Amino acid sequence: MNIILFGPPGAGKGTQAKKLVDFYGIPQISTGDILRANVREGTELGLAAKAYMDKGELVPDEVLIGIIKNRLNEADCEKGFILDGYPRTVPQADALAVILEEIEKPIDIVLNFEVPDEELVERISGRLMCKCGASYHKTFNPPKEEGICDACGAEVYQRADDTSDAVLNRLDVYKKQTQPLIEYYEAKGILVTLDGTKDIDVVFEDVKGILAKFA
Ligand code: ADP
Ligand code: ADP
Ligand code: ZN
Repeated sequence: MNIILFGPPGAGKGTQAKKLVDFYGIPQISTGDILRANVREGTELGLAAKAYMDKGELVPDEVLIGIIKNRLNEADCEKGFILDGYPRTVPQADALAVILEEIEKPIDIVLNFEVPDEELVERISGRLMCKCGASYHKTFNPPKEEGICDACGAEVYQRADDTSDAVLNRLDVYKKQTQPLIEYYEAKGILVTLDGTKDIDVVFEDVKGILAKFA
């Protein structure tokens, strides 16, 4: 099963991706997580990406296309994959189509999570992250033990770009550069839109219901 999780920052893509990984046993490919790991490790890629990320701007397409091409060619994607946070521009989507044609793994479905802006801001400003990629919320989805990741036991933290003006800029960038992909995938007949405002577990039930026919 080859899935794209789509939606604005804070829509719940990462949260649902983790549940899908557990349920279907296919990997989550989060470009945000990959970029943050590079920033943390101080790689050349991380150094180049950090300035864009801190401002809430998109990292240039060539960088992302390179990352995704390498990742999709890894062995664990053989049985399927969950793209989370990619593609975010039309050139990224076009490049993805070429890569997937080469490896003969077409996208089955694009799940588009809809959440109003006010709620996105509330979610992002309360988000707690773990370096393992798990994400929590101070009030909507707190870790079982305060400050500690349920999944791996590491300390959770607030992302630098979740506190500042970068949040509002990211919503703006989403509308201008990413939202056009809704029509792009609608035209291909593979986009399904979901109400992302429901409780996390209810959204997950909806997701499983939609994916049942591909499993
Ligand atoms: P969110 O979950 O809030 O949408 P992400 O973790 O997906 O945020 O991304 C964080 C930042 O990483 C983005 O603001 C952007 O700078 C960069 N980024 C992640 N994925 C992409 C992508 N596909 N194209 C360009 N930049 C990206
Ligand atoms: P994205 O990956 O789309 O940027 P996340 O999965 O990181 O979004 O979720 C953003 C924030 O909202 C996190 O703090 C998360 O715990 C919280 N969240 C996710 N889904 C829901 C939901 N259905 N209801 C309330 N809060 C949610
Ligand atoms: Zn963790």
